[in-house]
This record gives sequence, structure tokens and C-alpha cells, in this order.
Amino acid sequence: MGPEVDPVISDAKLPARADVVLIGGGIIGATGALFLAERGLSVVLVEKGQIAGEQSGRNWGWCRQANRDPREFNLIRESLVLWRGLNERIGVDAGFRTTGILFAARDDETEQKYVDWVQLAAASGIEAVVVRSAELERLLPGDSSPPKSALYCASDGGAEPQRAVPAIALAARRAGATIVTNCAARGVETAGGRVVSVVTEHGSIACTSVVVAAGAWSRRILRDLGIALPQLKVLASVARTSPVEDGPEAAVWDDVFAFRKRSDGGYTVANGRTTVVPITPDSFRFFNAFIPALMMDWKSLKLRLDKRFLAELREAPSVGLDRPSPYEATRVLDPAPDRRYLDVAMAALRDRYPCFVGAGLTQIWAGFIDVTPDAVPVISATEEITGLIVATGFSGHGFGIGPGAGYLVADLVSGARPLVDPREFRLSRYFDGTKPRPVASV
Ligand SMILES: Cc1cc2nc3c(=O)[nH]c(=O)nc-3n(C[C@H](O)[C@H](O)[C@H](O)COP(=O)(O)OP(=O)(O)OC[C@H]3O[C@@H](n4cnc5c(N)ncnc54)[C@H](O)[C@@H]3O)c2cc1C
Repeated sequence: MGPEVDPVISDAKLPARADVVLIGGGIIGATGALFLAERGLSVVLVEKGQIAGEQSGRNWGWCRQANRDPREFNLIRESLVLWRGLNERIGVDAGFRTTGILFAARDDETEQKYVDWVQLAAASGIEAVVVRSAELERLLPGDSSPPKSALYCASDGGAEPQRAVPAIALAARRAGATIVTNCAARGVETAGGRVVSVVTEHGSIACTSVVVAAGAWSRRILRDLGIALPQLKVLASVARTSPVEDGPEAAVWDDVFAFRKRSDGGYTVANGRTTVVPITPDSFRFFNAFIPALMMDWKSLKLRLDKRFLAELREAPSVGLDRPSPYEATRVLDPAPDRRYLDVAMAALRDRYPCFVGAGLTQIWAGFIDVTPDAVPVISATEEITGLIVATGFSGHGFGIGPGAGYLVADLVSGARPLVDPREFRLSRYFDGTKPRPVASV
């Protein structure tokens, strides 16, 4: 079972038409719906399960510039501006706090990587430093074996995923959007190369624009439209501790563990070193595209053949839009967490920080992260179908960049001047000979 997410009750009636239909009620769909509704467009968001039921309600809650891929610098900078103004914009507390984020360096090579990154980021207006000795000890109170140095971005922060995304969806509704949950989009209908409607399990919505913000499901939705999206899933497990006194305020990544202090005083903890990659039919299909990512992260990736292979094989065939779809069969993708790696992370954390010794684990869960070959999202109109926008593949860091991405989606749909240059996020980069590669680890 995933974490408890603030409920968003569905609107009762599915409109017969709208300017825009967003498929997926994660942070991208919710922020996109908010910014589109604010611009006066008629907006329907359909979610097959519950708002923030998948990645957007299961993540660590980090909103970081630190250690980002340079292609995302402008968007994350703008996203943090949006996070900071969010409470005022939506009239409720979405839980964002500026706490700082710190990436530990335990060897010279990593330290040099961070020194270079700081310079690169500064050119894009992102302030970060490499901290050492006394400053490092101040940021990591109680650490019995502090790292050599760390990349530190004081203006980074975090928000509470289970609260923030529902709050944004409710704000979108107040701005005029219709939010329908337990309503799977079975597919998109087109005519003459343009979007004409979204067919859901509860009926069709005629529209001129569709935003595919369906996280790990986006690839399948696009495939049914004849559009290829190289996307795989990786499994990430998370633990929640009871309140801890005197631990660090900043969120910290230090090799085997990563943690963030939540607003309730407990910590969200994960294994920062190990990522589980289920082998699926798509692993073979996209093997070549993902080779650079596999090579870069090979030490931390644990390939696993499990029941996911058969599940994806079974749900692969296309289904007529008048018949129940795999989206209805899996209302919420809720994989089992991998306890082993969490135990390793907790043991290391307790060893290093005595304040965590008495902390109990109150819950563990997992989520499937949707990754692209270069670990940079796709936020893009499609060349094949007019009116079809894709916003997906956030590769494990879409929560923090979510508001910026949602804003950019609204720009692409409404034809406004884009918040940032969207070229880095175009879908066609995978097919135009660019050979995009990951810069930072996934
Ligand atoms: C364990 C974990 C830790 C993470 N930590 C961080 C972090 O600290 N910071 C950070 O920035 N990012 C983090 N991420 C990544 C971040 O959570 C995601 O990048 C982000 O939430 C993606 O949002 P999304 O809206 O694209 O997708 P999702 O949140 O996955 O939402 C997609 C939604 O679409 C719905 N859907 C799919 N198909 C259909 C359909 N046919 N019809 C209707 N609805 C459909 C799904 O049910 C789902 O709710 C983490 C992810 C995980 C799993």
C-alpha cells in the first residue's frame, strides 16, 4: 500500500467537450490543469485511480536544483519560483519549505564533479557551493562520520507530496477545471491528423488538445497512437520514520542513504545507492537507447526478472476503445517495496546518526519511476498529431520540477510564449540523430 494521500473527490459529471483534456492526475496533470484553467480554457483532467496515487504521491518530496542535468536548469529555477508562490496562488499550504539540499562527496572525483557543477549552474543563475569542515558540520549535526565535502544548494527545498498534489488539483478545480477520478482514458481519437476526442471508460470528451501526463503509462498511450516513446520503469522503495529530534534540516544524499525531514518531524528515507530495474519486454525493445544510461549507472542498477515481465506482456496488446483497458485493470500501480535495500539504508543511517537509533519505521512503500534514455523529460508537442502534447519521463525528479513543467505544458497548449526554451524537452530528440545521453545519474 502506498502512503495516505489527501483525498480529492471526483466531479460527478464527465463533460462532453472541453478545450483540453489532461490524462493523468499526478503533479504534471494537476499543475497543467491549474495553469490552463487560470488562463480561461475549459479543462478536464481524467485520472484512472486517485490524484497522486502513483509517483506523485510516493516520492521523497525533494525540490532540488542541486546536481540537476544542465538541460533542466532553466525549468527547475522557474519551478522553484512557482513553488515559493504556490501557497499564495492557491490559498492553502502545499507544504513547500526551503531547507537546502546537500549531496555528499566522499572522494576527490565526486568533489571535483560538484565543483564543476557549481560553476555550470552559476552561469544559469543557480547558486550552489561546495561546503567543507565547519559549515558541513553545521549542516549535518550529529553525523559521526561526515563526508569530505558536499554540494550544497541553500535555496532548494521540499514539499509534502501527499498534500501538495491534491491541494493543486483542488485549486485547479476552483479555477474552473473538472477533475474526474476513477476514470481511465482508454485512448485518443484523431481525424485528419488532429486530436478530436479522448475516449474514457465513462464516455468521450470532444477536445482540441490532449496532454498525455500519464507517468509510467504514457508510453502505452502514445504507442496506440503510433508514436514511439522510449521509456522504462525502475522500482524505488521508500521508508517513513517516526519523529526524530535534532537531525539535519537539509535533505541529504550520502551514497547508501538519502533522507528528508518532513513537516511532521519524521524523515523520509531511501537507499541512495541501489535502484531495482525490472526486466520487461520493453527492456529488450529499448535496450540500445538505454545503453548509455546503463553504463553510467551500472554499479547501482540491480536488474531483476520478476512477475512484472509477465504483467507487461499480458497488458501489451492494444484493446478496442469500447472495451475495458489495462488502465482500468490497474487503478493504482502499487509495487511491493524492496525491504532489503531499505534496511541497509536505515542501518547505515543509525550507525552514522545516533538520533536515528530510536526512530521506528512507520511505513514503507514503493513506486515505479518512468525513465527516459537521457533522464530528461519529454515536454513536447508531437509532430504526428496536431493538438497532442506529451509531458512525461521525468526520470525520478519530476516532483520538484513539476510546477515549471505544468506551466510549460500550459504554454504549449495555449500558444503562449514558453516559460523556458522547450527544445531540450522535444520528443523528436530520440529520433533525429541527436543521440541524447544522461548527464547526471538517474
Ligand atoms: C520513490 C520515488 C521517489 C522520488 N523522489 C523524487 C523527489 O524527491 N523529487 C522529485 O522531484 N521527484 C521524485 N520522484 C519522481 C517524481 O515522483 C515523478 O517524476 C513525478 O511525480 C511524475 O509526475 P507525473 O505527473 O508525470 O506522473 P505520476 O505521478 O506517475 O502520475 C501519472 C498519473 O497518470 C495516471 N494515468 C495513467 N494512465 C492513465 C489513463 N490511461 N487514464 C487516466 N489516468 C492515467 C496514473 O494513474 C497516475 O496517477 C520520485 C519518484 C518515486 C517513485
